[in-house]
Amino acid sequence: MDVRDLCRALPKVDVHCHLTGSIDRDTAVELARRNRSSTSRSAIEAAYDLEQYGGDAREQAFFDALAVLGALVRTPRDLSDVVHGLVAHDVRASNLRYLELFVSPTAFAHTGMSFTQIQDGLIDGARAAEDDFGVRTNFIACVMRDEPVSYAEEMLDQLIAHRREEFIGIGLDGPEFLDEHRPIHFADVYRRARRHGFKRTAHYVRYGAAEYSVYTELLDCDRIDHGYPVIEDEPVLRRAAESGIPFTVCPTITRVVAGDALPEYSRPETHPIGAMLRGGVWIVPGTDDKSMVHTDIGTEYGVIADWYGMSADDVVQASLDGISATWLDESDKASLRREFEKEINRLTAR
Ligand SMILES: [Zn+2]
Repeated sequence: MDVRDLCRALPKVDVHCHLTGSIDRDTAVELARRNRSSTSRSAIEAAYDLEQYGGDAREQAFFDALAVLGALVRTPRDLSDVVHGLVAHDVRASNLRYLELFVSPTAFAHTGMSFTQIQDGLIDGARAAEDDFGVRTNFIACVMRDEPVSYAEEMLDQLIAHRREEFIGIGLDGPEFLDEHRPIHFADVYRRARRHGFKRTAHYVRYGAAEYSVYTELLDCDRIDHGYPVIEDEPVLRRAAESGIPFTVCPTITRVVAGDALPEYSRPETHPIGAMLRGGVWIVPGTDDKSMVHTDIGTEYGVIADWYGMSADDVVQASLDGISATWLDESDKASLRREFEKEINRLTAR
């Protein structure tokens, strides 16, 4: 089996996947029909055709499209169907075996659903997918950095008041353009989340290498999403490598969303993932907004393997290391690892 096929066939986890951007087109159309949405078919189609926008306009188009897709979701049943559908997609496409899914509760504020209704819908979809495919899903509640910090505080209040075992951590998401969206503003929220036993991750794409210690010390992140700025400063790159923190990397979305304005994201020799690998940073492939950029977890492994000449042994090791990057408890990690090893033995014996 060649490495690309192996990337597809290997059992894999995905710990960087967003609910809204992973709504597939058919589900989006069905939600619009079911909810008698006024959103036009062409606005839905545009969400899956980001490459029609050039340069810096594409990133704004991406955030606008996320809002369009988010607005199609109205009910707990919609959330359940979306979760089931996005798990099913990657089970079929590339042998997904465990998922940690980002959800931004404020994206559904327009629906009038309560926080617990949102949780119920998501958990219902996760259970249905586990029944059908044996794939478990846990959730990471995301704070949007372009919303007031008070929203983040309220989200954490809700997570604490309505504790569900499937909601295992918090994330920080949204556009990184302005000073008021810098991670430092969320330090208190993260500190309190930690006190209450929630794991922590955060997106880190634009703010420079000097922000690294804000993520690792003030936010005390257990993982970092993307984290590409660490390559801009040799000592920071070294610290990132020595930290043992997993960095979730998503080559397709960076190429599609940022690659037109920033061509370095389109080429393996200049994509930050290359320097991270050479620097010894622990990278874990993820899908991000997979439906909008037409990818799946096997494709993300395959792109990185192709770009950086990974061997079959390398990608097998990456799939096993993915388990260590999850927020499962140690006994669940061990049992998932046993399943993976059994399947890998079968695959590589062929
Ligand atoms: Zn992301």
